[in-house]
Amino acid sequence: MDIVLTGTGSPLPDPDRAGPSTLVKAGDTHILVDAGRGVVMRMAGAGSDPALLAGVLITHLHSDHICALNDVITTHWIRTRENTTLQIYGPVGTARFVERQLHALEDDIGYRVEHHDPLVKGPQVEVTELEPGDVFSIGDVNITTAATMHAPVRPTIGFRLEHEGAAAALVGDTTPCDGVDQLAAGADVYVQTVLRRDIVELLPGEMAQDILEYHSGVVEAAQTAARVGAKRLALTHMVPAPTPDQYPEWIARATAHFDGEVVIGDDLTTITVEPNT
Ligand SMILES: [Zn+2]
Ligand SMILES: [Zn+2]
Repeated sequence: MDIVLTGTGSPLPDPDRAGPSTLVKAGDTHILVDAGRGVVMRMAGAGSDPALLAGVLITHLHSDHICALNDVITTHWIRTRENTTLQIYGPVGTARFVERQLHALEDDIGYRVEHHDPLVKGPQVEVTELEPGDVFSIGDVNITTAATMHAPVRPTIGFRLEHEGAAAALVGDTTPCDGVDQLAAGADVYVQTVLRRDIVELLPGEMAQDILEYHSGVVEAAQTAARVGAKRLALTHMVPAPTPDQYPEWIARATAHFDGEVVIGDDLTTITVEPNT
C-alpha cells in the first residue's frame, strides 16, 4: 500500500505545498483522504486521477481540507463520462456540503451537458455520512473510523485503512485523543497534521494563538506514536511550513519521544507499507 502525501500545506498559501490531502493506493484501489487546494494536480503527479478513485474520505469540513472537492467531482464526472458514481464518505454535514457544491456548479454542468453529447446527467455522486466507530470497506481496503478532537469543528473523524495486513492511520486535524490512539495503534504509518507549538506561540496575533488549541504539536504526535506503538510517523500540514534545512530540527523534536521512523512530508512524498500477511 502506498500512502502519497498529495498535499502537505495548510491554509497558508505556499508555492510548493498543495492544501491538505493524502492519496492511498492499495493495488488498483485509489482512495483520497481530504481534498485541499490543488489536489487534482498533485493526483496527476502521483499517477492517479479522480476517475480512478474508488472513494473519497473527508475528515472534516474546514475549507482547507475540502476546497478542491468541486474539482475532484467535476474532473471525475468528465473523465468517467458519468459512467461511474463518485463515492464520498465523511462526517455528518458532508452531504449538505456536496449538495451545495453541485448547486454552485449548476451553470457549468448545464454548459457541458448542452455541448457534449456523451454527457446527459451531470456528476454522479453518492455521499455516505459516517458516525465515529463505523467500519466499512472500499474494494479490499477495510476502513475504521473514530472521533477526533478539533473543537469547535464538530463532528470530525479520522480513518484507519487496512490492506493485506498493513495499516495506515490518517487522522486529519486533531489534538491527541482516544480516537487517534485507536486508529494509530500498531499502524505501519500514522500520518498526523502538526504544528510547531514553540514557534506558533511566538507569532503575533490572536488567530495564530487560536490554532494552538485544536492541533497536535510535533512532540504530541511523537508521543502518540510512541504510546500506541505506531511503526512510522509522517508529519504533514506543518505550521509553519519548514524549509528543507529545518527538517532535521523538526525530526529531532519527534525522535526525542519516538523511536520509530519519522518522515517529514513534501508534496508527493510516498510511504510504502509492505503487506503483513
Ligand atoms: Zn481543520
Ligand atoms: Zn487543516
